[in-house]
Amino acid sequence: MEKREELYKGKAKSVYKTDDPNVYVMLYRNDTSAFDGKKVEQLDRKGMVNNKFNAFIMQKLEAAGIETHFIKLQNDTESLVRKLQMLPLECVVRNISAGSICRRLGVQEGLDLNPPTFEFFLKNDALGDPMVNEYHIRSFGWADPAHVERMKELTFKVNEVLKQLFLDAGMLLVDYKLEFGLYEGRVMLGDEFTPDGCRLWDKDTRKKLDKDRFRQGLGSVVESYEEVGHRLGVKFD
Ligand code: ADP
Ligand code: UDP
Repeated sequence: MEKREELYKGKAKSVYKTDDPNVYVMLYRNDTSAFDGKKVEQLDRKGMVNNKFNAFIMQKLEAAGIETHFIKLQNDTESLVRKLQMLPLECVVRNISAGSICRRLGVQEGLDLNPPTFEFFLKNDALGDPMVNEYHIRSFGWADPAHVERMKELTFKVNEVLKQLFLDAGMLLVDYKLEFGLYEGRVMLGDEFTPDGCRLWDKDTRKKLDKDRFRQGLGSVVESYEEVGHRLGVKFD
């Protein structure tokens, strides 16, 4: 399907219209950003790796009964997706403490969280995506209470599916961020699931295999993403 007008250029992906009003092209670029866009680099092959990684994960989620916007791969760096009316929220589940929760609550990295914890963040680059609670979401009308419940339910369902998938391949799913949108009135998983938006550690050595390699300047960023993919059985070429 042909790309038409570019609708949105985000920090790592671009979204295009197509000749079908209900379908968008999502282009995965090599741009990699962290710290609210303050650190930006081009990483060779990352667009291709993330596009194929995301396709693999979205298909696993569909197979587990979780509806997603993913339709199909269009080429190495592009996928066709259903047009969603995005909800301006990020849903984060954490199985192990890392990242912002450690800074915010003064807890050490690597604590098992039982039960896993859940956080909402408002998608707002200018404000640095602040954490918000369900009262904020309701008072400011960012999403209906029923949609909030569904986002939580689906985000935890994703956890059950993916925690096991990664564990079977020798990895710990530490945390991840999901974005949802509305499609014909239903809450549907949108955006992406790649090592750019989650934390994955080797089960035995706890080596970081995700975007923390970029954030922390650890090197071998795309190579690690590919290693995760290979362990799962993702085909990159
Ligand atoms: P950011 O906006 O955080 O820089 P990206 O570079 O990943 O993010 O850009 C992708 C944008 O596309 C995001 O704003 C995301 O909310 C939006 N998006 C993801 N999936 C869909 C979809 N199915 N329909 C419409 N918009 C989408
Ligand atoms: N995350 C993301 N996009 C964001 C913020 C967070 O994909 O804009 C992901 C991040 O990669 C991690 C999880 O959400 O897997 C939790 O992120 P955290 O709140 O710890 O923030 P960070 O310290 O990673 O900025």
